Amino acid sequence: MNNVDVMAFGAHPDDIEIGCGGTLIKLADAGHSIVMVDMVQGEMGTRGTVETRKAESAAAAKLIGAIARENLALEDGNIRVTPEAKRRVVEVVRIYRPQLVFLPYYQDRHPDHYRASEVVYEGLFQAGLARYETGQERYRPLRVIYYMGWYEFDPTFIVDITGQFERKLEAIYAYSTQFKPDDTFYQQTRLTSREYNWGIRQRMGYYGSLIGSMYGEGFLIRGKMKVENPLEVDFSSF
Ligand SMILES: [Zn+2]
Repeated sequence: MNNVDVMAFGAHPDDIEIGCGGTLIKLADAGHSIVMVDMVQGEMGTRGTVETRKAESAAAAKLIGAIARENLALEDGNIRVTPEAKRRVVEVVRIYRPQLVFLPYYQDRHPDHYRASEVVYEGLFQAGLARYETGQERYRPLRVIYYMGWYEFDPTFIVDITGQFERKLEAIYAYSTQFKPDDTFYQQTRLTSREYNWGIRQRMGYYGSLIGSMYGEGFLIRGKMKVENPLEVDFSSF
C-alpha cells in the first residue's frame, strides 16, 4: 500500500494545474507525496491529440513535483456518474490511499467539471465501504477539499502561492497545444485568448489580495475546520 499524502483529481488534463497547481507545488516543496488523477484523455479537445496531451500532462506533473499521474480514461466531453466511473475512482483511491484529496467544485460551466466532482465524491464514499469489492482494502480519505473552476465560491481558506506562482504558470503552459496565447494558432479557442490567459493571473491575484499576498488559490470544504488554538492560525480581520 502506498499511503500518499495528497491526491488531486481533475476532469481534463490541465484542470488540476489551473485549480490548485500552486498549492500542489507548495505541498511537494514541503516534502509531501502527490498523485494527480485526470479523468479523461482529452480526445474531444479542439487542438492537440491524446498523445500530445499525455506528454504535456507528464511534463506538467514533473514541474509540480508529483510522484505519479494517472488517467481514468472516461469519455471526454461526456463524463457521467456511472457505477463504472465510480469504480475507477475507488480503485485508484484504494491503491494510493491519500490523506487529503482535491477535487473540482461541484458547480461549473463545463458539464465534465461538475460531473467529475460528483463522480469523485461518490467514488471516495464508496471506497470506504467494506462490501464494495475490488479485491483491495477499503479506504476513505477524510480530508476532501474543493478547488475553484470557472464559477467562484466564498473560500473556506486561501493558500498563499506567491512563491509558486511562476512555476504554476510553467505547469499550465506545459500544455502548449491548449494555452499558448498566440494569434498564429490556426484555430483560436477561448483558452488561447489573451483575455483568458490574463484572467488566470487576475484570479490568483484577486484571491492573493484577500489574504494580503500577491497570489492565492481559494478552497472550499463542506465540513467545519477544527481549531485547537486560534493564535496558531494565520488570519487577519482588519
Ligand atoms: Zn477542464
